[in-house]
Amino acid sequence: MGLSEQLYRKIFVDEKKVLNDYEFSRAIRESVDSKRPLNQVLIEHAYLSPRQYLQLLADHFQVPPSDLKVGTIDEDVMRKIPEDFANKNLTVAFGMESDAIKVALDDPSNKEVIDQLGQMLQSRIAPYVASEYSIRRALVLYSGDLTQRIKQIVVKIEDKPPAEENTSSQTVELLTAIIETAVLVDSSDVHIEPYESEVIVRFRIDGLLRTIATVPKRMEPSIVARLKVLSELKVDQTRLPQDGRFTQIIKGQEVNFRISTIPTLWGEKIVLRVLPREAHLFDIHNLGLLENDLKIIKNYLKMPHGMILVTGPTGSGKTTTLYACLQEIGNDRIDLVNINTIEDPVEYTMPRINQIQTQAEIDLTFASGLRALLRQDPDIIMVGEIRDEETADFAIRSALVGRLVLSSLHTNDATSTIIRLMDMKIEPYLISSTLSLVITQRLARRLCPYCRRQYKPDNKVINELKRNHDFDNNLARLKSSKQLEESYTDNMKFYEAVGCKRCNGQGYSGRIGLYEILAISENLQTAINNREDNNKIREIALSEGMKTMFNDGLIKVFKGEIDLPELIRVAYS
Ligand SMILES: [Zn+2]
Repeated sequence: MGLSEQLYRKIFVDEKKVLNDYEFSRAIRESVDSKRPLNQVLIEHAYLSPRQYLQLLADHFQVPPSDLKVGTIDEDVMRKIPEDFANKNLTVAFGMESDAIKVALDDPSNKEVIDQLGQMLQSRIAPYVASEYSIRRALVLYSGDLTQRIKQIVVKIEDKPPAEENTSSQTVELLTAIIETAVLVDSSDVHIEPYESEVIVRFRIDGLLRTIATVPKRMEPSIVARLKVLSELKVDQTRLPQDGRFTQIIKGQEVNFRISTIPTLWGEKIVLRVLPREAHLFDIHNLGLLENDLKIIKNYLKMPHGMILVTGPTGSGKTTTLYACLQEIGNDRIDLVNINTIEDPVEYTMPRINQIQTQAEIDLTFASGLRALLRQDPDIIMVGEIRDEETADFAIRSALVGRLVLSSLHTNDATSTIIRLMDMKIEPYLISSTLSLVITQRLARRLCPYCRRQYKPDNKVINELKRNHDFDNNLARLKSSKQLEESYTDNMKFYEAVGCKRCNGQGYSGRIGLYEILAISENLQTAINNREDNNKIREIALSEGMKTMFNDGLIKVFKGEIDLPELIRVAYS
């Protein structure tokens, strides 16, 4: 049940030297004080991404690692181990290899458990190492229909008379089930919406809203009150919007929630945003960037100064990309640089990074915060978002005096970012001498790898692509960029969503970014100085080999990561 303190010391301090003795003891103290799992605190203190942590374990135990992502687990093999045994010993059987069953353990050196498994399964066992968190997550994800629990509680409530004393315990039970389920299915938001005669609970999963439960109207006041108390909002204020945050421990993991309330005709509507602590979200390797793009971004993150802008509409994953960039810099050289952020709001707390939250009521804005930050000798500054001329001006000036500045901006494509900055009254020569990289993005639904089906699009579809989406040119560009093996474009096969047990019949699971990445070349600098328009700047960027978002998505269509309708929906949104 979890690795011992001695073993962690051996791995983190003696073998891998990612922490020294002092840092290790401090992490132990923090783990005790905060009642959080030791490995989680250690990972944060050592500034490791879950991927690096897993590699650390693999090196130590001399067995291969498994991240136990949904796509790697064979459910039939998993069911071979009784749930009780799996939970008690933290083991997940996840696949077969020749004559052995692959089993992930948090401590693969535990011969006793492996022997028991061998006897139980009457098979040779191939041990793999996995983190405690990913084992627990896998065990929970496959433990039956998750929404069932909420529905059962609602049925119970409907059966019981609406007495005062029942309501409060029913509310707690219902909310706990809703919140836990939301976290377990990796939902990003929970909507609790009052209507005339009922309350609808919906989850946003993979970007789409799904109705999870319909709750009796009489529960509404106590649900709202309970959530307001949890997040320290004013319970009696029902006519104005409020927002706040709260933390819950769910299956041993601390999860942060942001809450916002808004009055509607039928009562207060509540949205909870789930802010997972897990840093794997911010691993730059998990965003869906193509190999080549990843290389470009990593190079620019190593630069001592300049400005990197992440752009796209609301909900396109800009913040995640910014955090992933900070984490990547941190992985690389946290001891050498001073990283500061100014955000509105601080969505995730990151270890060893100084994060400041803007506070309008005391006039701590992006601009005034940046001004103060510059006196703190920062090397790297992340400004949550450039919303106004003053912030743009400060951000550019910070980059000009030798800082690396990262920020986000609302623009539809990479090149129009330059025009947007000019519209914010930034002198072209300032833009050309500071802006180094623009990453524009959207999020698309990822096809479920289990049930997606390959098909050959008929001529009607191809003709439609040629007519409306410049398909021939896009294909030609794709071929010459050599980012996709020729067999894909020769075969001309796409994939479509089907739906299976693993994706809840949706055909999709998770999301993937589509990217357009613009590195500012000398030619582009000249064009900026000459105040060229977006068409001209785009023409230059394309001639220098910029891959458009459509092209990035097309590669993902050929590879079966997204389907064609999703590309068309997202690339032009
Ligand atoms: Zn599926």
